[in-house]
Amino acid sequence: MTEKNITTKIQVYSYSELTEEQKKLVDLAKEATKGSYAPYSQFNVGAAVLLENGVTIKGANQENAAFPAGICAERSAIFNAGANYPGVGIKSIAVTAFTRGAFVEEPCAPCGVCRQALIEFEKNAGFPMEVLMVGNDTIYRLDSACDLLPLTFKEF
Ligand SMILES: [Zn+2]
Repeated sequence: MTEKNITTKIQVYSYSELTEEQKKLVDLAKEATKGSYAPYSQFNVGAAVLLENGVTIKGANQENAAFPAGICAERSAIFNAGANYPGVGIKSIAVTAFTRGAFVEEPCAPCGVCRQALIEFEKNAGFPMEVLMVGNDTIYRLDSACDLLPLTFKEF
């Protein structure tokens, strides 16, 4: 028997330490929470992506009474990007959430399904997608979406 260890490097920033480009994406993700439709969870998630061509796209969770019909903010944003800018890679994604009258304190992390979807977009782009998980004043930064999900399911 051998053992393997998987480590993930997470850089922890405060908002003021971010670059101007990162701040814009974080601000856009916060703005995106206003487009959330979350009457069931009251958890308004917003995401924003920066494409390699400089375009930014917002996404927000959209719930539904038939629960599986809903979609997360992250996939809302990246599927929009894929539909409107096919073949254009995503440089960066920021994710945050607003609930009970305030932005979440702890950085908002994508769910497992979104992690898998983000990784496929990253693989197709051929370059790493920066991930910014945003809390009120704590931002977790990953170099790559692959860092979100070790031992990813791969068919590609
Ligand atoms: Zn998700």
